[in-house]
Amino acid sequence: MHIGFLGLGNMGGPMALNLIKAGHQLTVFDLSQSATAQLVEAGAQTVASPAALAQSEVEIIISMLPAAAHVKSVYLGADGLLANLKAGVRLIDSSTIDPLSAREVAAAAAKNGNPMLDAPVSGGTGGAAAGTLTFMVGGSQTDFEQAHEILSVMGKNIVHCGASGNGQVAKVANNMLLGISMIGVAEAMTLGVSLGMDAKVLAGIINTSSGRCWSSDTYNPFPGVLDTAPAARGYSGGFGTDLMLKDLGLASEAAKQVGQPVILGALAQQLYQSFSAQGNGGLDFSAIINLYRKDT
Ligand code: NAD
Repeated sequence: MHIGFLGLGNMGGPMALNLIKAGHQLTVFDLSQSATAQLVEAGAQTVASPAALAQSEVEIIISMLPAAAHVKSVYLGADGLLANLKAGVRLIDSSTIDPLSAREVAAAAAKNGNPMLDAPVSGGTGGAAAGTLTFMVGGSQTDFEQAHEILSVMGKNIVHCGASGNGQVAKVANNMLLGISMIGVAEAMTLGVSLGMDAKVLAGIINTSSGRCWSSDTYNPFPGVLDTAPAARGYSGGFGTDLMLKDLGLASEAAKQVGQPVILGALAQQLYQSFSAQGNGGLDFSAIINLYRKDT
């Protein structure tokens, strides 16, 4: 299949590479030449603008952009996709953006005769490279079924979350909970250790008791508990504090739009904000435990 791909950064680059490896023909665009170079080397064609991408003979276009402003400019701008795209070309936006912006862009695409799905991902850069991402997909059942084969090349868990925007709803709700639960685990672990308990024994108790969650059993923030967690490597790699901060911002913005209180989400956002302001935005988000530890 001839696929257009926009946004070839940490996530989009490896996702696009997997499509080439699976035998698809790719035409790509990114503002950064170094981002496109790797794809061109792997066999992709490149074009000079979103408009040129829209005018090429692609059957489907996938985007993986930083935030809603980039998505709106690429899809809705005068030199953007929709103004230059023939009806029938299918669209998938995998960027993480707020649900209402996703619905706004999908509605404009539908008016243009282009079915559009929002399909944000979880699984990080490791999942993007390995082709094991989880896709949370919003849009019609028919469009979801048509996109399934392509998404399966880049991910292994492809979930239809309901109507347009619901992929983003699932993503912001899950990541808000993750941000909150990590702080809860950090607080409980440091309390236990300050009161004299061994961190590994405490984690073992939590993980076989009612406090267990992904942040405690798979990604425990206390160093020495898990060899595989970012805590074992100085909180390098993983899911950056600033990316968590972005997702909590999306959750609180979406909550405001529907008048839904998210009290712990807002508190978590402030804690990650303060941690980031201390110069820690590039560390994995589980490093938030350093706000609590007396020895750091
Ligand atoms: P990134 O900054 O590495 O890549 C974004 C790419 O988009 C860059 O190459 C940039 O040049 C390009 N770009 C920006 N504006 C553009 C435009 N107008 N036209 C074409 N290209 C443009 O970001 P990333 O880490 O790949 O993240 C992409 C999206 O995936 C974000 O929405 C992020 O929240 C989400 N996400 C990231 C991760 C992660 O671990 N990195 C995990 C899950 C979801």
